[in-house]
Amino acid sequence: MNTDLVSCVVVGALGRMGQRICHLLATVPGFSLKGAVECPGNPCIGKSLTETLGVRDVAGCIVDDLAAITERFDVVIDFTFPEVSLKTATFCNRSGTAAVIGTTGFTVEQFQQLQELSAAFPCVCAPNMSVGVTVLFKLVNDVAQALRTGFDVEVVEMHHRHKKDAPSGTALRIAQILAQAYGWDLAQAGVYQRRGITGARRDAEIGIQSLRGGDVVGEHTVLFAGTGERLELVHRAYSRDCFAQGALTAARWVGAQPAGMYDMQDVLGLR
Ligand code: NAD
Repeated sequence: MNTDLVSCVVVGALGRMGQRICHLLATVPGFSLKGAVECPGNPCIGKSLTETLGVRDVAGCIVDDLAAITERFDVVIDFTFPEVSLKTATFCNRSGTAAVIGTTGFTVEQFQQLQELSAAFPCVCAPNMSVGVTVLFKLVNDVAQALRTGFDVEVVEMHHRHKKDAPSGTALRIAQILAQAYGWDLAQAGVYQRRGITGARRDAEIGIQSLRGGDVVGEHTVLFAGTGERLELVHRAYSRDCFAQGALTAARWVGAQPAGMYDMQDVLGLR
């Protein structure tokens, strides 16, 4: 792959994330937009990319299948739904094309399927592609290691009213990092809502609460509550560009990697 010019195709091109990614691919030097895929039946299928996405100097039309793209491209970027991303991964598995997958909401079985498929192509998959949240993941582990006893841990996330999955993929990843740091099984420790006479909080508990409303792009708070003090780690995304920029950084990185599954900590060298 020529890393001076990374040519990409976007699946879910008319979605909230897809539109921002297409816009950046068409405007940021060193990237090019070679095609866009949308849901079969979408009224924009067959319309020109320039007309539909408002991007200049990009040839081609919106198609409903990756296999219909005739231009050569290096990387597929997919922010859609788990079933759609698995179809994208099947295409990449057969063709060896690199992929950046930002979709969240995979079941354990679906994620395992994605991992198996990625044995034949390099794939970056991360529930949050922002630099800030990738660093937050590292900080959460560091704080959990430092505050092993005497602190209760809770995760609170808030997203816009249209978000389809809960808790967010980012909150779930934070909970997994916490569970691993404490040596707990998340299936036992995770408490996703509280209501009624719940009794006293257990020590080995990770509370995960989801708020939905308005146009909030994405906010995550990890609270470590001790006796007489509380430490909070907070990340707030003000625009989707932090995720879209992260997807482009991942697209530039992934093409040079051997087949396998990676996340943003690999991309940013934070392992
Ligand atoms: P969205 O609903 O606005 O966009 C999804 C798009 O996928 C829609 O345009 C839809 O028409 C399209 N789509 C549906 N079926 C399709 C198919 N068969 N083929 C091609 N396209 C199809 O959602 P969104 O807010 O853009 O989020 C998309 C996903 O990305 C969600 O899972 C969300 O949680 C995740 N997300 C991840 C990050 C990250 O940094 N990793 C950031 C934001 C959102």
